[in-house]
Amino acid sequence: MISVKKALEKVLETKIKSRKTKVRILDSLGFVLAEDIVSKDDIPVCDNSAMDGFAIRALDIKGSEKNYPVRLVLSSEDIPAGKLPKEKINPGFCTPIMTGAPIPEGCDAVIMKEDTQREAKSVLVFKECQVGENIRYRGEDIKRGDLVLAEGEAIYPADIGVMASLGFNEVLVNSAPAVGIIATGDELLEVERDLTMGMVRDSNSYSLSAQVKEMGIEYLRYGIIADDLKSLEKNIERALAENDILIISGGVSVGDYDFVKDSLKNIGAKQIFWKVNQKPGKPIAFYKHKDKFIFGLPGNPVSVMVCFEIYIRPLIRKIMGYKDLSRPVIPARASHDFKNKKGRTNFVRVVIGKKDGQYFFSSTGLQGSGMLTSMAKADGIAVFPEDISDVKKDSIVEVFLLKE
Ligand code: AMP
Ligand code: MG
Repeated sequence: MISVKKALEKVLETKIKSRKTKVRILDSLGFVLAEDIVSKDDIPVCDNSAMDGFAIRALDIKGSEKNYPVRLVLSSEDIPAGKLPKEKINPGFCTPIMTGAPIPEGCDAVIMKEDTQREAKSVLVFKECQVGENIRYRGEDIKRGDLVLAEGEAIYPADIGVMASLGFNEVLVNSAPAVGIIATGDELLEVERDLTMGMVRDSNSYSLSAQVKEMGIEYLRYGIIADDLKSLEKNIERALAENDILIISGGVSVGDYDFVKDSLKNIGAKQIFWKVNQKPGKPIAFYKHKDKFIFGLPGNPVSVMVCFEIYIRPLIRKIMGYKDLSRPVIPARASHDFKNKKGRTNFVRVVIGKKDGQYFFSSTGLQGSGMLTSMAKADGIAVFPEDISDVKKDSIVEVFLLKE
């Protein structure tokens, strides 16, 4: 049996040949750039006004104040946003200008409307202005030729705005892997079925699909497959042909009807590990087949979700080109004593609180790996490493954040 650390290393050790794909910029949200974004323009494209007001020469209004306003003559033109000024503004004149409109020749500042009083043919100015005040200069945000966003960076909403402002309609990103999900078990029912004695509704294929979906990527659910070697082989082969990562829930333990490992062997997949020194999720199996990855997850509903968080999410992020593969991890303080068995990594579902700038965690309650509500209540997963026994109140432990 290997450690959690070793298992994660094995999952992440394959060098990934990234596939790139062009997408519309809005569809690039949450992906990683596979190209540099270099500006073809100066942004803004010309000197323009940051305020609604009057374009002036700073020298003309030097010394003006509330009780001694300076009077400027209105030019015949006004400049709304989007219009190019035609006239040059002579000393002693000014022109109404709106936010974003180009600065006319002859002016070197904009006085805010709030500091003026407009009359029929002139404007009273009640305040001085520095040269350049309320002017946004050409290229002050982005210069032509600037590397604005670099390959390898994750794309956030502001980046999409930046790409739009630079005229990029599409962008090259690293493709997400195609992820397939199979639930196995003779006891499983489709969600719409009434619960009968001895049966369980398939929740795993739903929680796993949702975990994939939460990452902003697609998944394919293959429904419920019986505990039968032949039908497992057939369905696994089909799902493998259509996906880069295949997640199989159930049937990987030592039960008499756990056929997933045999079926993977029969189709020629190579076992990388089986069983990790952890709770929950100990019988997790990891296989590779050509350039595909296969996870056989123990069917307990908490185990599948925890194993997804610990191993599969980082692999998906690696394939997508992220540098940071983990969920945010915070140090947090135990709010109470926790019983803990030394010698394996325990993943404990916890509720997180904050007091005096410090994070605290407490148990979500019963921690059985079959109790999915322990996961539903959890804000995070506290990691009790192999080498610690009971966790005393106030000890500091690393906690993965599951929710914002
Ligand atoms: P297994 O790993 O197949 O031995 O299953 C372990 C436990 O998880 C059993 O109690 C199963 O009934 C339960 N289980 C397996 N698959 C699912 C599933 N898709 N949804 C909910 N529970 C499941
Ligand atoms: Mg089973």
